[in-house]
Amino acid sequence: MTEHMPVKVDMEKIMSLTRRRGFIFPSSEIYGGLNSCWDYGPLGVELKRNIKQNWWKTIVQERDDVVGLDTSILMHPKVWEASGHLQGFCDPMVDCKSCHTRWRKDELESDKCPSCGGDFTEPRMFNLMFKTFMGPVEDSTAIVYLRPETAQGMFVNFDNILNSSHRRLPFGIAQQGKSFRNEITTSNFIFRTREFEQMELEFFVKPGTDEEWFNYWVGARLNWYKTLGIKEENLKLHVHPKEDLAHYARGCSDVTYNFPMGWGELEGIANRTDFDLKQHAKASGKPLDYFDDETKERFVPYVIEPSAGVDRSALAFLCDAYDEEMAEGEMRVVLHLHPALAPMKATVLPLSKKENLASVAKQVYAELRKNMMVMYDDTQSIGRRYRRQDEIGTPYCVTVDFQSIDDGQVTIRDRDSMNQIRVPMKSLTEIIIAKLRGEPFLELPCGGQKVVKKAAESK
Ligand code: ATP
Repeated sequence: MTEHMPVKVDMEKIMSLTRRRGFIFPSSEIYGGLNSCWDYGPLGVELKRNIKQNWWKTIVQERDDVVGLDTSILMHPKVWEASGHLQGFCDPMVDCKSCHTRWRKDELESDKCPSCGGDFTEPRMFNLMFKTFMGPVEDSTAIVYLRPETAQGMFVNFDNILNSSHRRLPFGIAQQGKSFRNEITTSNFIFRTREFEQMELEFFVKPGTDEEWFNYWVGARLNWYKTLGIKEENLKLHVHPKEDLAHYARGCSDVTYNFPMGWGELEGIANRTDFDLKQHAKASGKPLDYFDDETKERFVPYVIEPSAGVDRSALAFLCDAYDEEMAEGEMRVVLHLHPALAPMKATVLPLSKKENLASVAKQVYAELRKNMMVMYDDTQSIGRRYRRQDEIGTPYCVTVDFQSIDDGQVTIRDRDSMNQIRVPMKSLTEIIIAKLRGEPFLELPCGGQKVVKKAAESK
């Protein structure tokens, strides 16, 4: 039995757990770390892969109107001229005249420095794009930029996709990948960093249908976070008022999450009209438009852009899953991660290291690993091993005991309820896969469990 006590999730606890258990480490830590850069360890990399994979499944795999793309990080410098980034991708920066700390003006609540109360310099606009040089000569003709978003790769490939995959409107292009922004201030762990990963969709539609599609994508994206387990009360839509929109945009809503430091943007969904395609057509001299066979019209499509951050999503999923509970008279920390996101789906725990038991447990481990990420842990007491798995959010622990050798059965312990069931070893993979999918079970007379076939399959 667990006794739940509401726990205030603070960032320190999340940072400490993720570091201790191998989710996230400071970058180049042995040299003192590099400000705002983080390395994802063995569990962190699985969490991120699961987030990206679930996004890809929902956005690309399960739809017939979206295709994927992977463009290079370095692009022709004219891309950033046409997109407006070279001129306008700036934040106002101020310096404190007393303690010389640097701040983003639009994030300050008062005219005085929050660190020492000093006065600020006049704001200067600071371009957030990272510059580097292409080739051996470091002069102004060799300057290239690390992309600050993945979106432009999709706009400049609009025609390539249209011609090679014969798409009809509406259709989308999706991409995941690293982006770089030389943020003036970074803070709150992986919430705002200078190197991060994005998951972006550019969904092209016929002008006039854009508002409907915008509303559709706002709903669909909000729902994605809920279906992956984020609590409804921790999600909120922020609708940008018309006067705050970029001059070309017709609408923008952010999916925000109630992080330990307050509400923050997880994803922005924008109706960017035909601005980007028109800008690139003008600057490149290559028309980026669409011919509608049915109406015989030629026009530039509008685009709806849901743009999400992998790292921010990871932080939100971790914060939302974190819990502290009294379980069997002991405090346990548990990550109630959605099974689809959990880095490890199961862990095999032999009750003893004795050879005859270990060999059975290793067979179970080898069989499960063919289908999912699984751990093997034979150190310390079983109680401590369960706690370790709870802390990293493993949905199922599979215990192999001496009886298993005789009766061919193992015990599955559920992370959230801590209930245990005994199941036949030979159907273990099938049972865990079904459990991970949330499918029901039927009790078998022998004490084992059998997966109930879905109604459609059993007909
Ligand atoms: P913010 O207002 O927080 O700076 P933004 O509105 O500039 O964000 P977008 O340009 O809309 O962000 O980027 C889309 C998504 O990319 C964001 O919702 C966020 O999840 C992610 N993202 C943007 N900048 C960063 C960053 N510096 N670190 C981590 N993730 C980021």
